Amino acid sequence: MAEVETKKESYFKCKKCGDEIYWNTHKRVIYCKCDALGVDGCEDYVRLLGDEKNREEIMK
Ligand SMILES: [Zn+2]
Repeated sequence: MAEVETKKESYFKCKKCGDEIYWNTHKRVIYCKCDALGVDGCEDYVRLLGDEKNREEIMK
C-alpha cells in the first residue's frame, strides 16, 4: 500500500487490462477489471492497492 500525492486530473491505469480509475473514489476501493490495481482516494489521501509495476499514473 502506498500513499501518493496526486493532482486533480490524475488517473491510475492498469497495465494488465488497461482500465483507468480516477484518483477520487470517495473513500471506496475501486478495482480494475482484472483486480491487479485498486484505488482508494478522497480529498485527503489516495491509497493504491496492488503491485506497483502493474500501474501507471496518467494525466488527462
Ligand atoms: Zn487490471
